[in-house]
Amino acid sequence: MTQDDRDQRHRQRMERKKTVIDEQISKATDERGLLLVLTGNGKGKSSSAFGMVARALGHGLKVGVCQFLKSRRDTGEEAYFNRDPGVAWHVLGDGFTWDTQDRSQDIATAERGWAVAEAMLSDSGCQLVVLDELTYLLSYRYLDSDKVLEAIRRRPPMQHVVVTGRGASDALIELADTVTEMRDVKHAFRAGVKAQPGVDL
Ligand code: ATP
Ligand code: MG
Repeated sequence: MTQDDRDQRHRQRMERKKTVIDEQISKATDERGLLLVLTGNGKGKSSSAFGMVARALGHGLKVGVCQFLKSRRDTGEEAYFNRDPGVAWHVLGDGFTWDTQDRSQDIATAERGWAVAEAMLSDSGCQLVVLDELTYLLSYRYLDSDKVLEAIRRRPPMQHVVVTGRGASDALIELADTVTEMRDVKHAFRAGVKAQPGVDL
């Protein structure tokens, strides 16, 4: 086969592919607020959510972020995004479970944090809400799952919500529009590398 033949075959294949993709794109006409769930044991859940924060801000949208598990205030994402007046950033954990070892204190912290999230979920001026590490509060039953899912379901119709954390429940996955499971293939931590600024925090 000559180079010309190969070029022509490639062109034909790409034309067919373009027809199929264009047809799929023309069928997707809905516009509405989406619920995304980023779960699984692999790295990339929160950092993907913060990637969407950057995208949303680039489009001039208002963003709310609730970080439920973290007590640390030294993350690069918080330092960076807090400079943007379009973001309301809330660190709502005070170190759960293995730090506090106090279930009733954890529940009180979770409830206080959830009140902040609920306010965002009823504010149509907030176009993207990130509920980072929310899944743990559901799996430890610190928050009532039905109550949480109902608040997400009743949010303003154009508001996007991103939930991150391992072990997303079937009910949360069922409610979501887009679900991604990060698979842990390899992580530097297991080779003895400590969390690196810019990559892990
Ligand atoms: P990231 O914030 O980097 O996107 P994540 O949100 O998917 O990670 P978390 O379970 O929230 O994962 O963990 C946050 C921290 O733990 C990050 O520093 C991350 O690099 C690290 N981490 C994530 N997955 C793993 C893993 N499988 N093994 C060890 N450390 C991990
Ligand atoms: Mg995370």
